Amino acid sequence: MLIELISSFPPEKGVYILSFSIDEPVDVRIGSLGIHQLPWGLYHYCGSARGSGGLRARLQHHLASRAHPHWHLDYLREWMRPLGCLFVVTEDNLECSCATLLNCLADSSVPIPRFGASDCQHGCPAHLIQNSSLTPGTIRDVVRNGIKNGIRYNWENSATPEVK
Ligand SMILES: [Zn+2]
Repeated sequence: MLIELISSFPPEKGVYILSFSIDEPVDVRIGSLGIHQLPWGLYHYCGSARGSGGLRARLQHHLASRAHPHWHLDYLREWMRPLGCLFVVTEDNLECSCATLLNCLADSSVPIPRFGASDCQHGCPAHLIQNSSLTPGTIRDVVRNGIKNGIRYNWENSATPEVK
């Protein structure tokens, strides 16, 4: 299980793309964003971990059950089935670059405007992207190709734990 691999995630600051599925349509309230209907499919959340405990603490938070949601993603915890997480240790803010990259793909859509992007300074429609053509197995290639298109970071240190 992905959650069992989290202890191998680094406690440093970084950026991550958490991929998960929603296996049946749900109506869910996302805090101040209101109630939204989410179709089944694959979803990808771009985030940055800058607090203490870094990537490890943030992913632990996302994958634990949450009685009191804090981040937008916490509201989906009950329905999301985590599939994999691509991450990179960096002080750079690549969160928006990743979201832009994924948003530009042909099959991508934004199911909930502003999701995860409340304090985004770059005009991203959201940091949660729905794209069922993109899997944890292919997302790394997409991000690597993004390097050629201006995402300046070496993702060679990243890892993609996966669950079946
Ligand atoms: Zn953004």
